Amino acid sequence: MSKILIIYTGGTVGMIYDEKTKALRPIGFNEIRNNLPELYRMGIDFYVYAFNPPIDSSDMQPEIWVELASIIEDRYDRYDGFVILHGSDTMSFTASALSFMLENLSKPVILTGSQLPIGKIRTDAKENIITAMEIASTRHNGQVVVPEVCIYFDFALFRGNRSKKYNAEKFEAFYSMNYPPLAEAGIDIKYKTQFVLPVPDKPLKVHKQLDDNVTVLKMYPGITRKAVEAILSVPGLRGVVLEAFGSGNTNTQPWFIESLKKVTDKGVLVVDITQCDGGSVELGKYETSQPLQQIGVISGHDMTFEAAVTKLMFVLGQGLDPEATRSMIETSLRGELTPINHDWE
Ligand code: ASP
Repeated sequence: MSKILIIYTGGTVGMIYDEKTKALRPIGFNEIRNNLPELYRMGIDFYVYAFNPPIDSSDMQPEIWVELASIIEDRYDRYDGFVILHGSDTMSFTASALSFMLENLSKPVILTGSQLPIGKIRTDAKENIITAMEIASTRHNGQVVVPEVCIYFDFALFRGNRSKKYNAEKFEAFYSMNYPPLAEAGIDIKYKTQFVLPVPDKPLKVHKQLDDNVTVLKMYPGITRKAVEAILSVPGLRGVVLEAFGSGNTNTQPWFIESLKKVTDKGVLVVDITQCDGGSVELGKYETSQPLQQIGVISGHDMTFEAAVTKLMFVLGQGLDPEATRSMIETSLRGELTPINHDWE
């Protein structure tokens, strides 16, 4: 019998409507337990680690990612897999962060939640939890099938650091534009093993140093010099996710490039990702991205915003020299990016 640890952090899945505040608030795991007797019929030996108090995932913080990684590390040998019940709002951030923190992961860590609380008649929570449990406990010929941090939601299993919450209303709340789903659930759960990372032959290594001295600069026509300079002068700044247009382009006004150059000269890492949900940054493809290359902006390739922010925190937390830090950003560590190296000449 598989042994699974359910880590309940909160989220809509376990929320109830509070008559006083007229809003949804998270409550204890018992609400889930009482509404999901099927859990006891799955033939899975499961245990629960419940956050007290549970949180709305909008309150997620890097310290809680460290707590989650530690919970998994401390119990790693005792369980075959882990299911994290989590609010959908920041689930892709948590999944991305954990993917970097849990190096050489050889067991499934599946995050799930729901759009409707488990107590609602039309809830999506039951299917999401039951199938996430099944995926976390699946072995083929004794081998783990998905040794990755994933999100399971609405019949699809995504690599966590490729996923994005794109819809606040549909049951299909997530997608993964730049990488195929790792499994699809219908009558059977069909795994696409060709897209899944191999089981590593090294022991789990848990990284708990995250550096939150990062910020985001999102491009839009009309962005002012004072807005850019304010963002880039955050005290202690070490990393910037530059959310650029299309294939990584920005405006080329001298003051803009100069402001960015000032920080790259000081050793701040600027990672260029695209605002588009699909496709990749290709620095140098257009004249409007060449100055970025010249001042040392790093390509984030096709990383999601969630992966780029958490990867910067993770990589900066490693305390490596600048060259090694840059190269880690551009390298796929956990399948979070697809490098493209076109020569546009
Ligand atoms: N606000 C909720 C949360 O992220 C939304 C959800 O769970 O779907 O905790």
